Amino acid sequence: MTDFKKLIASFAECDCGVQHRCDIKDIRVGSGLVREVGRILQENDFPQKLLLVADRNTIRAAEGIVESLQGFEVEQYIYEDLRVATFDDVRLVESYFDRVDGVLAVGTGSIHDPCRMACARQKKPLALFGTAPSMDGFASYNAPLVDGNFKTSPPAKCPEIIIADTKILAESPKALKSAGFGDMVSKYVALIDWQVSHLVTGEHYCEKVAGLTRYATDNLMRMADKITLSDEEAAGAVFESLLMTGIAMAFTQTSRPASGTEHIMAHYWECLELLEGKIPNYHGEDVGVTTLINLKFYNELIKKESIRTHKEINDWDEILSVYGPLAEEVRKINSPDTITDEIDPEKLVELWPEIVKIVQSVPSYEECLAAMKKAGCKTTIEEVGKGSEFVAKSFLYHPYMRRRLSLRRLANMID
Ligand SMILES: [Zn+2]
Ligand SMILES: [Zn+2]
Repeated sequence: MTDFKKLIASFAECDCGVQHRCDIKDIRVGSGLVREVGRILQENDFPQKLLLVADRNTIRAAEGIVESLQGFEVEQYIYEDLRVATFDDVRLVESYFDRVDGVLAVGTGSIHDPCRMACARQKKPLALFGTAPSMDGFASYNAPLVDGNFKTSPPAKCPEIIIADTKILAESPKALKSAGFGDMVSKYVALIDWQVSHLVTGEHYCEKVAGLTRYATDNLMRMADKITLSDEEAAGAVFESLLMTGIAMAFTQTSRPASGTEHIMAHYWECLELLEGKIPNYHGEDVGVTTLINLKFYNELIKKESIRTHKEINDWDEILSVYGPLAEEVRKINSPDTITDEIDPEKLVELWPEIVKIVQSVPSYEECLAAMKKAGCKTTIEEVGKGSEFVAKSFLYHPYMRRRLSLRRLANMID
């Protein structure tokens, strides 16, 4: 198992000039740890009075956790099944703070998102017991929450303590493990976008943090054929990889090291589906497919040996019309100017050979597709339940949802 304390400490003095910090105090990933949760919390001086938040599935998976909490005064809130967390859930967690001093979230994903925001707002300690290696958001400083039918990412905190039992991770649903794998493969696109933006705009880029993401992703790619097995080592490795990229995001205080245009495209899918009242897929399922779409596009794009460029031409009426009720927000993101305004088309021509090299530095679309198939991931738009017209539109318009440069967005400037 990785020594995370050592890992985090090794980033303290980075050559890039940024003070990388991560507020996670203790991380334990190991076999049978569900019975040690109480002891680990005690070792970290976690408050005696705590709220345990879980849902029926996660509390069942974490059998033994309540027994391990001897000596603690435990209040419990168990959801039936929480797929979409809202601000009501944040308020619900907060309503316990007159009688508890900390929160133990059991389950990654929707369970711990409201906990992370509530604990951030009320300055309470938070511990996470992960039950499935399904996504990497648990160490980030934002929590995806739904407000009405809108998805937002208000400030949140990462847990001070993260615990996972590899026995439980190994027995978690295959769909969740495969989704976690899909979320990891996306890092290759994220790394391309981060480096390209750094090259073109001078956006801050840390090679060491990017190296951490890369290391975690490469490591997991080698385990593709073990992902769907009930294999403790593989499940632990997925969890650790997700954790590393989560820590990478904490280090830069942005999602840059672990999320590129593929995440924005999946976010677009999710937002538009929420507006229609649909329950979104598992995050990593959508992200896996948007990764393949964008990586394939990048692989095709770099077949051009040289390029001709122009200023980006945007028909804002058309762009905003796609977003419906979200149009105002998208307009704000692109006002008073949009992210490509300052980019000199000639510079792009000059930098093209370097951009090509960046894309070539990560595994190809074919390699990623093969690994994802081995890992049981969904790989087609049909498998994630999207229509081809919807996907085509999302490919064109998703880059306007965030003020963040990607090679996908820059491609709009190439003839
Ligand atoms: Zn750095
Ligand atoms: Zn993700």
